[in-house]
Amino acid sequence: MRWSEFPKWGKWAADWAAQYHAGLRDKPVRAQTKPGEVLAALPAAPPDQAQPIKDIIADFERIVVPGITHWQHPRFFAYFPSNAAPAAVLADNLVTAMAPQCMLWQTSPAATEMETRMMDWLRQSLGLPAEFQGVIQDSASSATLAAVLVMRERALNWDGNANGLPGQKTLRIYCSNEVHTSVDRAIWIAGIGQSNLIRIPTQGPLRAMDPAALEAQISADIQEGYLPVGVIACTGGTGTGACDDIAATCAIAQKYGLYSHVDAAWAGSAMICPEYRTLWAGIEAADSVVFNPHKWLGTQFDLSAHFVKSPEALTRTLAIQPEYLKTHGADGIINYSEWSVPLGRRFRALKLWFLIRAYGLDGLRQMIRNHVTWSQALAEKLRQTKDFEIVTEPVLSLFTFRVTPQGADADAATLELLTAINDDGRIYLTQTRTGGKLVIRFQAGQFDCTEDDITLAYDVITETAKTLKDA
Ligand SMILES: *Cc1c(COP(=O)(O)O)cnc(C)c1O
Repeated sequence: MRWSEFPKWGKWAADWAAQYHAGLRDKPVRAQTKPGEVLAALPAAPPDQAQPIKDIIADFERIVVPGITHWQHPRFFAYFPSNAAPAAVLADNLVTAMAPQCMLWQTSPAATEMETRMMDWLRQSLGLPAEFQGVIQDSASSATLAAVLVMRERALNWDGNANGLPGQKTLRIYCSNEVHTSVDRAIWIAGIGQSNLIRIPTQGPLRAMDPAALEAQISADIQEGYLPVGVIACTGGTGTGACDDIAATCAIAQKYGLYSHVDAAWAGSAMICPEYRTLWAGIEAADSVVFNPHKWLGTQFDLSAHFVKSPEALTRTLAIQPEYLKTHGADGIINYSEWSVPLGRRFRALKLWFLIRAYGLDGLRQMIRNHVTWSQALAEKLRQTKDFEIVTEPVLSLFTFRVTPQGADADAATLELLTAINDDGRIYLTQTRTGGKLVIRFQAGQFDCTEDDITLAYDVITETAKTLKDA
């Protein structure tokens, strides 16, 4: 295929995309594929001869599309959303056409300067103070890894990269059991070791780290000769939306000179609405904050917004400058690859620019408020329904529930209900475990979700439960 043929197939792809989205409500949300089905449909060996695009496209529709779980389906209520707003998709199409590699300012000045401006737009949108500067990371996992590496280097007087950990005191990092597994992996990769990730007990309806327990643990560890280096707090934990007390946690971190990182990967998007900011009250005291516009906001994967008070701490930890990466004669510029683990960078900021302009902050706020309102209304309806129990109260648009039919094991009945719902296909839900109970998570967040979709979710959930009970 040559660029001369691109208009023809590009137009086909644009039409296909619009039709795909228009027809999503008629498709099962979760792929109904059996393991190995797609693999078996793909030839075992690559072709030697060029094949016509039209044949490749026909196979795409036949083999690939049925094996897709439709994250852009308006009734995707599983995990967290991974929204792709059409304006952001359009921007990414333009980026893909140019395909610049934006590791340095000079490898595409527009990408770097757009990123600086967009991250500041986002900072203002979340109500973060001007001391924070942002960088786009590929994922929240990468941002958390970068923060953990900063914790390590800062505590070791910037010597860890040079000499490793031997001969040093044992480093320790603190968090609750509600944080995402990306924290565990960051600790592994940073060489700190799982046994030095210390879990602080949680308390209260938001399952927040107990500040007194946090402080007691840090001071006991110092007494015993450990080197506490950082605290990782969450706003909107992955399982049930747990929220740490950010003000209390950061105050303790500051008192002991520890670096604080707040993971708000999902809930951060909601902070464009001032009324939800109480969930992370005190955030201005954090050293590092991450949230994923690629979750709720609509800039499709991958685009994670990482804000830090001290970019110098980040670049002191991660920057490396062999001669071939030096940008002679360009003073005062930013090379964002020095702010992250990967060197190469896509031009991600363009989709933020398109998104924020095409919908306006007001449009995005309205979407999030709708999701929260509708989801909380559904929780109330389920609470009033016989045999249903709300297990964790809504945090924004996320709550968990289970069924407790008389004489049945609640865990088994809840899992059976979940399986039946997902086999039905009109909605998609996933499970977690909290307080020893197996529960179904419900979150509303898809970009095109309407109130009717939530009403249908109630019908599917309660009708399926009734069918199973009567069977
Ligand atoms: C989704 C999620 C992550 C992981 O995000 P990635 O961008 O996929 O790495 C981390 N933390 C929380 C709280 C999340 O919800």
